[in-house]
Amino acid sequence: MMEIERRQEEAQAHIRATIMNEFCRVMNQSGLPPMAVMRLAAQAVGSIYREVAETHSGPNACPCNWRPNEQTDVDVLCTALLAAIRFKPVQDLRAMRPIGSA
Ligand SMILES: [Zn+2]
Repeated sequence: MMEIERRQEEAQAHIRATIMNEFCRVMNQSGLPPMAVMRLAAQAVGSIYREVAETHSGPNACPCNWRPNEQTDVDVLCTALLAAIRFKPVQDLRAMRPIGSA
């Protein structure tokens, strides 16, 4: 595995675990239903995008050279959300029973 892939997987696992912890905590403390809390999480990602995009625009933009492109960036975020929702891990073959067995 390439270094960049390893770092991406580590970052993904970290951010997922963090959001899952907070999701469960907010559900328990607020009593809000799952979709209400999911919506808050999605709104948080959108508002973080807005804030980061603003620090990368205009005369005092961050010097890292990333520049937001709202149209393609929104596509990237929506595609990532849909792909993650639709992804179903391949079933563990050891857990499958042969067809016809009781
Ligand atoms: Zn930057």
